[in-house]
Amino acid sequence: MNTEEQKRILITGAAGFLGSHLCDRFILEGFHVIGMDNLITGDLRNISHLFKLPNFEFYQHDVSKFVHVPGRLDYVLHFASPASPIDYLRIPIQTLKVGSLGTHNLLGLAKSKSARILVASTSEVYGDPLVSPQSEEYWGNVNPVGPRGVYDEAKRFQEAITMAYHNFHGLETRIVRIFNTYGPRMRLNDGRALPTFIAQALEGENLTVFGDGTQTRSFCYVSDQIEGIYRLLLSDYSLPMNIGNPDEMTMNDMAKEIIALTGNASTVIYEKLPVDDPKQRRPDIEKAKRLLDWTPKINRQEGLQRTIDYYRSLPAEELKQKDFTYYNQR
Ligand code: NAD
Repeated sequence: MNTEEQKRILITGAAGFLGSHLCDRFILEGFHVIGMDNLITGDLRNISHLFKLPNFEFYQHDVSKFVHVPGRLDYVLHFASPASPIDYLRIPIQTLKVGSLGTHNLLGLAKSKSARILVASTSEVYGDPLVSPQSEEYWGNVNPVGPRGVYDEAKRFQEAITMAYHNFHGLETRIVRIFNTYGPRMRLNDGRALPTFIAQALEGENLTVFGDGTQTRSFCYVSDQIEGIYRLLLSDYSLPMNIGNPDEMTMNDMAKEIIALTGNASTVIYEKLPVDDPKQRRPDIEKAKRLLDWTPKINRQEGLQRTIDYYRSLPAEELKQKDFTYYNQR
């Protein structure tokens, strides 16, 4: 393809779980991909297979500081941010900065390049929701000064400033509200429920459920999430859009299903529920269905099996690095 015609996209958080899958997808679509990451929670191994490609480049940089990218840009995807509670409790100020200052820097960059920008928001903007399922019109129930406030409020600010750039500067913006997503390349020690459960089951240990395990979550397989983001970016819809899988289940059932799929004789043990842990989380995806013609395609069993196979392929000592100290249930 002529380099003049080739679309150029900046992906922040490129070495992370979702960012690395987005790099793969846009490379596959023929884009020139510029990855950016400061590696605070990411891992270069997630994108090491791309380094040999002529249409991939990578900058190690903190996007909370001024961001410069030489040359033309058609799109910006802002995915840099600690995403799991264990991370944002460890680095709360960096979390607030990347959602606020980082977003501001990238909006400025997109404006200067006349690029379209999509920012990664989250179902956490709904907090501990008082309605279920959560549609985009629900304003949320967030405790700004609770331990999760640093993440939730940074993302709410991110949405507000993105809409302000859209309304005031006419910038082309997209906002995806991502619900729990899982799959290969999720860090084993990021404290989230699924990798922890799988690592525990593969190690033949008991699975730790926080609270009584009746709290629910809905998990979306990563390829479905990436497809939804891709479609949203190319759509003309600028208000927030939920992308997730409404297939809701209790943590008890998830733990049992993983035990069954790994074929190990683990059992479930219970620990005290963390502060502000949402009791229920399920996306209303009617808007994505109608406007993007998108629905999740990978069923839970298939997605879990692929994820288990990925973790099985890792060196055995990595399974021991799992960490569920704080918030197992996200
Ligand atoms: P991740 O931790 O795997 O990836 C985030 C990446 O951002 C990491 O590689 C990290 O090093 C990088 N990063 C963090 N701060 C940075 C900074 N200041 N400058 C440059 N790079 C920085 O997390 P993920 O699950 O891939 O999440 C990606 C995005 O999607 C985040 O914005 C997150 O809030 C959002 N999200 C994810 C989920 C999910 O289920 N995975 C759910 C809701 C929202």
